[in-house]
Amino acid sequence: MKNIAHYQDFTELVGILERSGSDAYDMKKIEDAYRFAEASHGDQRRVSGIPYILHPTSVACIIAEMGLDTDSICGALLHDVVEDTPVMLDEIRKRFGNDVAKLIDGVTKISKIPYSTREEQQAENIRKMLIAMADDIRVIIIKLADRLHNMRTMDCMPEQKRRDKSVENMQVYAPIAHRLGIKRIKEELEDRSLQYLDPVGYKEIEDALMLNEEGRADFIRSIKEQITEKTKDTIPNVYISGRVKSINSIYRKTIMRNQSIDDIFDVFAVRVIVDTVPDCYNVLGVVHDIFKPIPNRFKDYISMPKQNMYQSLHTTVLDNKAIPFEVQIRTWEMHYTAEYGIAAHWKYKLGMASDPKGGDRVSKNIEKVKQMILDQLETEDSTDIARNIRNDFGENDVYVFTPKGDVMSLPRDSTPIDLAYLIHTQVGHRMVGAKVNGKIVPIDHALKTGEICEIITQKEEHPNRAWIDICKTASAKSKIRQWFKREKRDENIVEGKQIVEREFKRQGMNLNDEEMADFFVNVNMKKQYNTLDDFYAAVGYGGIQLWKIMPRLKEEYQKTYASGIENIKVPPAPVRRKRASSGVIIEGNDDVLVKFSNCCNPLPGDEIIGYITRGYGVSIHKRSCTNVPANLNDSEEPERWVSAHWESDTGEAFRSTLQIIAADRTGLLADVTIQLSNMHIFIHTLNSRELKNGKAVVTVTIDVAGRDHLRGVISRLSDINGIEEIKRL
Ligand code: MN
Repeated sequence: MKNIAHYQDFTELVGILERSGSDAYDMKKIEDAYRFAEASHGDQRRVSGIPYILHPTSVACIIAEMGLDTDSICGALLHDVVEDTPVMLDEIRKRFGNDVAKLIDGVTKISKIPYSTREEQQAENIRKMLIAMADDIRVIIIKLADRLHNMRTMDCMPEQKRRDKSVENMQVYAPIAHRLGIKRIKEELEDRSLQYLDPVGYKEIEDALMLNEEGRADFIRSIKEQITEKTKDTIPNVYISGRVKSINSIYRKTIMRNQSIDDIFDVFAVRVIVDTVPDCYNVLGVVHDIFKPIPNRFKDYISMPKQNMYQSLHTTVLDNKAIPFEVQIRTWEMHYTAEYGIAAHWKYKLGMASDPKGGDRVSKNIEKVKQMILDQLETEDSTDIARNIRNDFGENDVYVFTPKGDVMSLPRDSTPIDLAYLIHTQVGHRMVGAKVNGKIVPIDHALKTGEICEIITQKEEHPNRAWIDICKTASAKSKIRQWFKREKRDENIVEGKQIVEREFKRQGMNLNDEEMADFFVNVNMKKQYNTLDDFYAAVGYGGIQLWKIMPRLKEEYQKTYASGIENIKVPPAPVRRKRASSGVIIEGNDDVLVKFSNCCNPLPGDEIIGYITRGYGVSIHKRSCTNVPANLNDSEEPERWVSAHWESDTGEAFRSTLQIIAADRTGLLADVTIQLSNMHIFIHTLNSRELKNGKAVVTVTIDVAGRDHLRGVISRLSDINGIEEIKRL
């Protein structure tokens, strides 16, 4: 492990700030913060016995080295005061202002986040939540510095605690540092965590690297000399440094991939820093000239920056003894962004000039770099950068805790009801109320990221119908409906009947119970419901949304009652003239209106039969349609059934309705639509609904040229990911 003094005191902090050469620091405020923290922590000690105040001063040193501002340094000095001493946040606000108070409040809140390592998803949620919670990205940076210092002084902690913290670092904090582009913290957190998680593996690599320390130093020196020699006359201000890569990164490549340390490319890394982007490419040319490049190892992150803003050219080459090493080429601006990531923006704001490795070169370049960054900051405010990062992490989700410490991710504006059903269906069914952060909240409370929400349940309780409208997630709604469907059939029937009667009355559709029964038989042609009560029950528990089917019911009502049975006006669509367009020949009738029945949508090739309607012309059914009696002579008016057959080669489009059962997923409907439009299929209607078993049913009505065409369409649709069954209705 790198040699870092584990504790740094206030004098060292002052030293760092002085060496920075910046006069932007409010030294009086920083000293006040230090005195206040020192007095508040009193004679508290670290587990190791060291005075507690040396922890906050050390964290402040890390923050200062990253170039953050006065308030961040004060925040670091005071970060444990509210948590670990009787001092209240108000006191901090009075003494050091609202900004410092907000930073400390943020760090304190984040520290309280319980962490369980149950699954990767959980870690991902915590990462997102941390970002979402920190209105100010400096909160996260202070927290990272706090973690880092705790890891530097972790040796005196019990074994279990060291491991727990290390897992947390690997899963949560190092990825955040990576995302923010703060490589220094990321690598040190990883290396220190690895040391506790796999001490043997860590030591193995450390030993292997130590073994030939002198040899490695010689190697890097020789590489540096060769590059310097070839660039000194053509490229100005070339700064070269060489290093061995972080133990964790070597570990991932050797132990996890079971490779020998001698076999991997990336043990050595040489970094070349130049003034301009064209110089980067010039250096690359020189490097490829001197050393043999390994194919497919060149990466241009200058023209294609990584998501965390990282830019550099990477290439891996072999020296004349065939030892591989990686070369990273970048400008100073890219260098600072790579080392400090998002923190670099604060650094430049302050006009900080010192970098221990860069020395004079940095101070020469700093004005130029500063100007570049300032230009950038003018167009892109630093808070916007923070906001952009949060956007990446899903602005539209909220992350809340269960009292057990699980992080649950929910859509924005979700309520405790949604959370209860997300935890478990039974928790939802038995919910009677909810507490957020220990206080009872209304059931429609919109949950916010970071809240701890406890669902209060009672064994004998059951859901409330009104919840369906209150909760936000489809899954909670459907679980509530399911419960009503199963548990309360009688009530559902009563409720459903009331709803239907109310709505019918509103629409001026007046039917007594007997008429209603007839009407129901009429509209229930597809036999979706066995009885009228089933229909009422479905309306009652919300399985049918009445408003969706009302237009159809009303149309049917008007056909049957409003216009009188014997005196029906011919409706415009979908009636087609025989011969002219229908493609159907009706025996014994030359000039007759033909319509294709909606119940079975016959297609050319199907065996069909006609039914002479009253005033509707002849409606064509499939012979196998359930509405066609198996034995025509058994039907009430057998004379109404007439033979019909298809004209050949009609070249006409026929309407067909398909029911597609598929695994419910986003984009399903889009995929169906795209596939159909690829085939130039006209779509009349398309809708989908989710089923209780997590599947979705898509119903689509399309035009096809006939049975063979339809078969082709079905086969193409079957190829769509997730589609399980396609039925023709
Ligand atoms: Mn701390």
